Amino acid sequence: MAVTPQPGIMEIDLYVGGKSHVDGVENVLKLSSNENPFGPSDAAKKALERAALGLHRYPSTDHAGLRAAIGEVWGLDPARVICGNGSGELLMLIAQAYAGPGDEVLFTEHGFAMYPIYANANGATPVIVAERDRRIDVDALLAACTERTRIVYLANPANPTGTMLGEAELLRLAEGIPDTALLVLDGAYAEFVEGYDAGKALVDRFDNVVMTRTFSKIYGLGGLRIGWAYASQGVIDVLMRIRGPFNLSAPALAAAEAAVRDRAHTEKCRSENARLREWMAGALAELGVPSDTSTANFILARFASEEEARACNDYLAAQGILLRYVGGYGLPDCIRITVGDEASCRRVVHAIGQFKGAS
Ligand SMILES: *Cc1c(COP(=O)(O)O)cnc(C)c1O
Repeated sequence: MAVTPQPGIMEIDLYVGGKSHVDGVENVLKLSSNENPFGPSDAAKKALERAALGLHRYPSTDHAGLRAAIGEVWGLDPARVICGNGSGELLMLIAQAYAGPGDEVLFTEHGFAMYPIYANANGATPVIVAERDRRIDVDALLAACTERTRIVYLANPANPTGTMLGEAELLRLAEGIPDTALLVLDGAYAEFVEGYDAGKALVDRFDNVVMTRTFSKIYGLGGLRIGWAYASQGVIDVLMRIRGPFNLSAPALAAAEAAVRDRAHTEKCRSENARLREWMAGALAELGVPSDTSTANFILARFASEEEARACNDYLAAQGILLRYVGGYGLPDCIRITVGDEASCRRVVHAIGQFKGAS
């Protein structure tokens, strides 16, 4: 008998990240992974340099410094914060702790490609719920819940659509899902939305609502792998039992603590993103490439057809502009474009203009 993996694992299609290089092209512009064009805060870079002096030491296992900083900045109880190796680790731990064979894990039609992987990796059944015009449909999600539902994963703002649910819709969802299911609000892009609490009030009110956050997007630290979650004490106690004791490196902890405290840098990134996103969406619309109003750091550009979207993606890639074609997300006529700095936004709009003019 040969060794065999656990049920579900062979159902997983490997996650494919955004492209980062083009053969033969030097000046590559990577707008395929929603990275922050301004990079991390200077304070985070300095903290990282200092941390290099202590690499022979094991990192903190309770993450007390980072949890205290997160608690201070976001006004929440550090005892109910857990840090992970990217928010991806926490999203996976949630599935590991709460979903197994016979259980259902819900997410939506154009939801983040990792959600089915978290379900399958733990032998649970992924359930895909339809969206309505690239927006999450709360009624459809509630209708899909059964007594087997254990987790509902939902990114708000959503990736790759960029759309988001308002407070009232989120509340209706939190109130409506079964008590035996967790509502996981993936807030990877929450900081780009001025005034949005990322679901904090819902976590405080409902024991079965969890919020996850990341340092990979607005904080510009994707390469260091840091995320966190905020949940009821019961959920945190469960997740703490199964996370690795040294899941975050000392340099990552130090950089993240400095980054979260540098509110001026975060605010600059948020406002620049909003300004350039609006400009880019308007300029593309004038070229005949519409998009839904985005609340994140990317735009989902809609083309006339799958052929046109693929051709535009290839046309730009040939000149070193890497975007994310999202046919794999059930959006065959769309390309996701990360909002870069001003020069990058101008370069991408110019290239799409040339493509439209030539085709
Ligand atoms: C980028 C992204 C994340 C972040 O993952 P990390 O593991 O924290 O880098 C999580 N969810 C969504 C929807 C994302 O787009």
